[in-house]
Amino acid sequence: MAFQKYRINRRVLEDLESRATPGMYFYLVITAVVLYFNGFYQRHTTFSVIFASAITVVAVFRITQFYLFRTLYQLSRRFNYYAFFASVYATALIWGTGFAYFMAHPEETASQMAMLTSHAGLTAGGAVAFFPAWPVSVLYTLLMLVPGIAVILVTGSNLLLAFLFLLYGIYLPIIAYRGNREYWDALENEHLLKQKTKEIRKLSRTDGLTGLYNRRYFEEIFARQWKTAIRGKASLSLIIGDIDHFKQINDIYGHQAGDAFLCKTARLLQTILKRETDLIARYGGEEFVVLAFNMGPKETLQLAETIREKIETMRISYQNSQLQITISLGAAYCRPGKNDQKEEFLKKADDALYRAKNEGRNRVVFHPLHREEYGHPRPKARPGDRL
Ligand code: GH3
Ligand code: MG
Ligand code: MG
Repeated sequence: MAFQKYRINRRVLEDLESRATPGMYFYLVITAVVLYFNGFYQRHTTFSVIFASAITVVAVFRITQFYLFRTLYQLSRRFNYYAFFASVYATALIWGTGFAYFMAHPEETASQMAMLTSHAGLTAGGAVAFFPAWPVSVLYTLLMLVPGIAVILVTGSNLLLAFLFLLYGIYLPIIAYRGNREYWDALENEHLLKQKTKEIRKLSRTDGLTGLYNRRYFEEIFARQWKTAIRGKASLSLIIGDIDHFKQINDIYGHQAGDAFLCKTARLLQTILKRETDLIARYGGEEFVVLAFNMGPKETLQLAETIREKIETMRISYQNSQLQITISLGAAYCRPGKNDQKEEFLKKADDALYRAKNEGRNRVVFHPLHREEYGHPRPKARPGDRL
């Protein structure tokens, strides 16, 4: 999926919440300290009660939302999104208005000092916390500063202070903007890295010519399925196919015709095997392997026979003629126990293929790992069968 820069998705919203919400604890403590400082709350009781209550409500809301993020996100993405931003603006507006109230009382010099210090810290903290969403950072800063600046300008109490806050209102968005670029660049790089890793993983599993899985991946899955089969008392079927006299195809019609046959064989195998648990891989040059999970011995033999038949009827157009190939297949079946070795099982299939070649090619030879796994009807015993 293409990366959408600057789009507030779940990941970014989660980042914003985890960056900004811890600050709410500080809002609560700082509110208590500032109001208590120098007995301010005794002289401004109504304001203090309203201010402290409003900050507490919004802080509790945001902290709760933070801890319920996943649940709320599942219930309603929109609610989570709007509730977060609305509560952020509400916090800034409440605090900004409270700050303006302090600025409107120049007689409270000591409390104003405490408020000024807290205000500067909280505004800077917020501007930095929200920089993944730069407009939020700007709006937050404005809501924090504008009411106070307006009061100072209206009362004309300290114009230089208003100017300082104005500078602050310009400086913080600039810093936040830089942070915003860096955040999104990092996120984009992370996305690209994930995508490349996925592509590389896919490439490392895939055979370049046929698009089937390669031998390395087959071996990885085979080892995993073997263990799963032992644990779950399930069965495994293994079919190894090798195209007959393939060298001649290359020698007579050229490598390209040979490649076309390999690709067509791969597509054909994919149409025959459709179960998610079946694995088809290119085992070697013109060798293919099929690993099927929980398929009976009869079905295994039948599957190998179907592959053989379909390959025999497959045709490739070459100049004005229709080319044909055949395949020899070795099939093995087992319900592995703890004492069985997967290498032994693989050898059974390989030996069966060897026999199919020796017995004239274009045929299937079936070797179960254990004698009793022939199933019914039992395939005809063949000369040299060691079972
Ligand atoms: P047999 O019936 O005994 O299997 O005979 P064969 O000719 O198929 O066996 P052999 O192993 O001698 O030859 C396999 C040939 O497959 C040799 C090689 O040129 C060809 N081959 C291997 N990989 C590719 C490939 O990717 N493309 C093409 N066109 N040919 C390949
Ligand atoms: Mg071969
Ligand atoms: Mg061959």
